[in-house]
Amino acid sequence: SLENYDVIVIGSGGAGLAAAINAHDLGAKVVVVERMSTIGGNTIKASVGMNAAQTSYQQEKGIRDTKACFYEETLKGGKFKNNPELLQQFVERAPDAIDWLAKQEIVLSDITITGGMSIDRTHRPADRSAVGGFLISGLVRNLNQRHIEVLVDTKADSIEYQQGKVSGLKVIDEYGESRILHTKAIIVATGGFSANAKMVEHYRPELTGFVTTNHKGATGSGITLLQNLGAATVDMAEIQIHPTVEQQSAYLISESIRGGGAILVSQAGERFCNEMETRDKVSAQIIGLAEKSAWILFDEQVRSQNKAADEYLAKGFAIQGESVEDLATQIGMDPKALAQTLATFNQAVRQQQDLQFGRTTALRHPLDKGPFYAIKIAPGVHHTMGGVAISTQAQVLDTHHQPLKGIWAAGEVVGGIHGANRIGGNAVADIIIFGLLAGEQAANWVKTA
Ligand code: ADP
Repeated sequence: SLENYDVIVIGSGGAGLAAAINAHDLGAKVVVVERMSTIGGNTIKASVGMNAAQTSYQQEKGIRDTKACFYEETLKGGKFKNNPELLQQFVERAPDAIDWLAKQEIVLSDITITGGMSIDRTHRPADRSAVGGFLISGLVRNLNQRHIEVLVDTKADSIEYQQGKVSGLKVIDEYGESRILHTKAIIVATGGFSANAKMVEHYRPELTGFVTTNHKGATGSGITLLQNLGAATVDMAEIQIHPTVEQQSAYLISESIRGGGAILVSQAGERFCNEMETRDKVSAQIIGLAEKSAWILFDEQVRSQNKAADEYLAKGFAIQGESVEDLATQIGMDPKALAQTLATFNQAVRQQQDLQFGRTTALRHPLDKGPFYAIKIAPGVHHTMGGVAISTQAQVLDTHHQPLKGIWAAGEVVGGIHGANRIGGNAVADIIIFGLLAGEQAANWVKTA
């Protein structure tokens, strides 16, 4: 059967869906292919929110922020390894991406903070629920309104590309049958490779045996597919481990819990770091503990203000104690040590000065309202900062920095934006910003091609 499209989007995460909607709205006939049987990729698991500076929502709340500050803090968090032009594009387009979502009735009007940032700029749903499910269901609603097709259980195998021209995409369906979908343009939005243990080990041998927070589809197949056409890759060894992962389920405990005022304590009942440091630093501190794991600890006030916390309670991750001593006893911790740790921390909150570890953000309120909760966590493979090289217009670049004509990429499959460490809330921003850009560029290119 002959299937003809203007633009094929590979991958149904946030980047792919944003690209598909934007390309459609600019007049292209679009289809999305997704290897898994469900839509949403790893995006659906995103927890904390979407970073942007100088947004209307920040203004409404009286939060003063600048794009320059967002740029600097992302660069610092990325250890100055970020591609400056891509980062500039990212920061510049972030407020428009928030507005674009709002126009599609995907409203991220509540604002919190993540590690490595000095200002509340992480936008999330008004009810403070996890951003991923909210975002994907909103995008799918928009896809359906426009009757944009998504072929699930359909894996992109190779791009038909000759003499600098895309003619089609070879896909393999759930029965192992292959066929060609005809198209002029392709957007690769296949996500990262955190769930490909071999690939992770290849680039970072010391991460062997780590759990991953990612869904099974995060195998990096899009990177291989593009490398076969001569695409360049960057920063492939920059793999992020997330500090707070529940180990039995490999479920990520959102940074919004710490952002809401929680602390980390060791089995000895002591704080051991500034909990609001970047993920790489907090992870390294946990791995440095004798037990290589820690407890994320919070009180009733943090719980009552964070929807994610309820989810963790429902999943049975949290141990609950009516008092600090009760909780300590249940988790095999010295009650006196834990009580002392909380007293010291609560004093730091009252004075807004953490003399022990220099935490300056999310010193929200004293942790003194029972019940108290603790979730055991350790780091897990979470995000691959590296990936294919793109231009500031999301064109895939070859090893000579020349665009592969007719091919764009967006989202975690791309490398360079986050440098050596991604800040929480910057992945969702990345996928929407560059997804929209790739969709726009591909649709406009098809019109003139
Ligand atoms: P991003 O956050 O960059 O949007 P996600 O991980 O959310 O990335 O989504 C990427 C999607 O791409 C996943 O749903 C994944 O299953 C899908 N995918 C990965 N490789 C392929 C492939 N070769 N063919 C089709 N879909 C793919």
